[in-house]
Amino acid sequence: MYIGNHLASSKGLEIMGKEAISLGANTFAFFTRNPRGGSAKTIDPKDAEKLRDLLKAHHFGTLVAHAPYTMNVCSEKEQIRNFSREMLADDLNRMEYLPGNYYNFHPGSHVGQGADAAIPMIADAVNSALKPEHSTTVLLETMAGKGSEVGRSFEELKQILDLILLKDKVGVCFDTCHVWDGGYDIVGNLDGVLKEFDEIIGLENLKAIHFNDSMNGCGSHKDRHQKIGAGEIGIEAMKAVATHPLLKDKPFILETPNDDEGYRAEIAMIRSW
Ligand code: FE
Ligand code: FE
Ligand code: ZN
Repeated sequence: MYIGNHLASSKGLEIMGKEAISLGANTFAFFTRNPRGGSAKTIDPKDAEKLRDLLKAHHFGTLVAHAPYTMNVCSEKEQIRNFSREMLADDLNRMEYLPGNYYNFHPGSHVGQGADAAIPMIADAVNSALKPEHSTTVLLETMAGKGSEVGRSFEELKQILDLILLKDKVGVCFDTCHVWDGGYDIVGNLDGVLKEFDEIIGLENLKAIHFNDSMNGCGSHKDRHQKIGAGEIGIEAMKAVATHPLLKDKPFILETPNDDEGYRAEIAMIRSW
């Protein structure tokens, strides 16, 4: 299986690959720029080449880059919307230093405008940023439905995907904590949730998993991640997700509250399943 965690890109690209290997990982996630700001470090092409070589030599799976949290392409404020659209376009160009990977982003928060107004804005931002020559697949993340988040339901994600023109370059990242907090019972009925995903979005569009337990109950709309097995989803249901035949080839990314030792232990535990 492909499993890893979020690594800090601030120290450089190749170093992330080395860190991942030291944690027992064979994929990882990283923020394309300061997650709470928006400024981007210039990429050193030599450093990118070293990481590409390392990933190839160690048979890594697809990486899952993450857009900054400050990006909101469906903000009610035009200035934030434009800034976010520029970040998205710039990130997709920068991703070409590591070709063929995933770029995951939060669809956004509609901040009172309603999802119906936000959905076309999200699709339009992707349509203007994503070019036929890009080798990256852009992923919409399933959201917990905190505040005015768009993408809490499979139906909303499907509506966005339907408006995106380059259909073979987009997909969905399934965050277990968010899906659970969003009201999908992956504890009592995992097969039913995956069937619903398949009927609405299509399982061929499920590209990556954010593998997190949750501090809160199903439908709580809270979005507080917990260590694997220490939350409301619990160890058995997490195990059922990680070993599900329909999900087995996807990259699993841990976004759990851990230090390096904790991640190393979680990765080893999940591999032992
Ligand atoms: Fe996320
Ligand atoms: Fe996530
Ligand atoms: Zn989250």
